[in-house]
Amino acid sequence: ENSGPLLELRGVRAAYHGITVLHGVDLNVAAGQVVALLGPNGAGKTTVLKVAAGLHPPDAGHLLMGGRDVTGIRPSRLARAGVCLIPEGRGVFPNLSVRDNLLMMTFCGRGRGREEIEETAYGRFPVLAARRGQQAGTLSGGEQQMLALARGLATDPAVLLLDELSMGLAPLVVAELYELVAEIARQGVAVLVVEQFAAAVLKIADHAAVVVRGRIQWQGHPDGSLQAELSSYYLGSP
Ligand code: ATP
Repeated sequence: ENSGPLLELRGVRAAYHGITVLHGVDLNVAAGQVVALLGPNGAGKTTVLKVAAGLHPPDAGHLLMGGRDVTGIRPSRLARAGVCLIPEGRGVFPNLSVRDNLLMMTFCGRGRGREEIEETAYGRFPVLAARRGQQAGTLSGGEQQMLALARGLATDPAVLLLDELSMGLAPLVVAELYELVAEIARQGVAVLVVEQFAAAVLKIADHAAVVVRGRIQWQGHPDGSLQAELSSYYLGSP
């Protein structure tokens, strides 16, 4: 039984077309934990998620899952091992119904079946049950983000990677979504959340890291010293 971090980035360096954008990133996420990765535009937050999902192999450093080195392993294999990325912009199919958006996840990731997917989704997000026949593109932004989360949960994730969940949503909706994320973590999922604006996610985060120009400038418990750190980088002050 491994009691260390479920997801671990060790000295990760990553580049696009020869330009290095991550300069040795160390980050751990344990099962049941919410880790917030914060930082300004272009700091490298999304790239960290892409490395964690296997979509962008690092030039140097290692990706570990449950203590096993999985650096360079195909994204599909990481998905089957329980790594799930919910991208910025949510990735739902606007012309498909809520139900079809869910059912197309059948046997993705760790392979939940149709009935279990619907049961899990509607149990956790009752608003989706009421709208199961509705085209996803006509849902409100918050409902679409719930659908994106539900699609992620359909994969039975061990590691959930969330990119800018709050994008374009009202603060109250964001707070509600993060309560749901906290609940997902309490079930034992390791959650890594990327946000540019920090306030809402810090209410539920167990650990926070600030990335600036591809380097982790600060990490620790989200408390007063983090607020000072964030305002020094001109992020949204919570
Ligand atoms: P944002 O909050 O704006 O999404 P971010 O912190 O998520 O920013 P990344 O998307 O990881 O930042 O980008 C880090 C750097 O890498 C940026 O300078 C960006 O321009 C560059 N970059 C990202 N994706 C690519 C790509 N596919 N090709 C070339 N450069 C890229």
